[in-house]
Amino acid sequence: MSLIVSKFGGTSLASSQTFLKVSNIIKSDKARRYIVASAPGKTKSEDTKVTDLLYLTYDLAKHKINFNDILDKIINKYREIIEGCKLDMDLTDYFNSISKNLEEGASKEYIASRGEYLNALILSKLLDYDFIDAEELIFFDESGKFLEDKSYKAIAQMIKDHKCAVIPGFYGVDPKGNIKTFSRGGGDLTGSIISRGVSADLYENWTDVSGFLSADPRIVKNPRQINTITYSELRELSYAGASVLHEEAILPLADQGIKIQVKNTFSPEDKGTLIVADAETEDESEITGISGKKHFSVINIEKIQMKLDKSFYRKLMSVLEVNHIDLEHMPTSIDSISLIVKENQLASNYDTIINEIKTFCSPDKVSVEQNIALITVVGRAMKNNIGVAAKLFAALAEAKINIQMIIQGSSELNIIVGIKESDYEKAIRRIYDAFIVE
Ligand code: ASP
Repeated sequence: MSLIVSKFGGTSLASSQTFLKVSNIIKSDKARRYIVASAPGKTKSEDTKVTDLLYLTYDLAKHKINFNDILDKIINKYREIIEGCKLDMDLTDYFNSISKNLEEGASKEYIASRGEYLNALILSKLLDYDFIDAEELIFFDESGKFLEDKSYKAIAQMIKDHKCAVIPGFYGVDPKGNIKTFSRGGGDLTGSIISRGVSADLYENWTDVSGFLSADPRIVKNPRQINTITYSELRELSYAGASVLHEEAILPLADQGIKIQVKNTFSPEDKGTLIVADAETEDESEITGISGKKHFSVINIEKIQMKLDKSFYRKLMSVLEVNHIDLEHMPTSIDSISLIVKENQLASNYDTIINEIKTFCSPDKVSVEQNIALITVVGRAMKNNIGVAAKLFAALAEAKINIQMIIQGSSELNIIVGIKESDYEKAIRRIYDAFIVE
């Protein structure tokens, strides 16, 4: 029988109504044996996620301000879930201990983790599955680095002892017993780690949308749904802004070939998006998706015969390194090089960075352009497919959009163009129309 790990996000586990939906989904396939739960999310847009409420109680407690009103909000959420699901459960002792721990200065990560802990406890009761605390499965070192070997060993043991289990997402424990959390949205990572640890046939990630869209729906009306996407395409698209899944969620699975199926709890019959290691390119369009980001700066450095100065690139990189600047891209020409960096990183230390480049690298000229947007056009089908770049550039030319930069790696998985921020939305719409509108 196949084995599925199913992770349910916050909106899927936000109220008794959604808990019952989730229970039906899980019960409809016996292969769904290991379930990873998020903390309750929003039931409506003006709502606040339990994780955010917990962070707030921590901040209030730290400043010795009364946190009971916020804690009551959290208690009421769980009460509604328990009563609506008609469960015989009482979480009073848990809340008393959270309250006591807050007063006694418990860590921020411990407090944040309680959202998933309690939700997983309730879901395990509703499903009649075992509850396994993430503290027994997910290990970190003291600096917060995830410890693979130790965790996978514990997970392998866990499946021998438990046929079906619910595990809280988002956190684990360090060698001293302190709770550590992943970055926000990290329940997706727990799901990937558990999937790898149990050698799942499939990792289902249940959320509140039917998978990935080929463009940002705030810019393109009803963009086409992506049915299948490869790991590497997804890395490119999510780097550039499309976020349904945590950016790092595919990393534990990439060398295992475990597929991720993104599904919508509120519309389970929708196909969703399947994320795979490799996909056939037939029947697919030339591109899989378009995404992008604003707020980049470009540092243009000119130096005649820069290649003759063998230490030039090293010096340039060390200026970025000592100033903690991430290099996003680096298009070059014969006598010039452009460093594309995030606007806020450069702005935080602008004068120092520019001066250090001038003194350390002795360029002929340094200039900076601000307000640059990058658009990434991603598609595994563009490899060896003549005319994709031509179509892209023609679409932008017709829209009278100036392309300031072009980046394409030899993997031919994507083409990135740098344009003015003010052209961003228009450019995305034109590219979408050129490639995707059927
Ligand atoms: N509850 C955590 C957050 O809000 C983790 C998660 O939902 O995946 O970031």
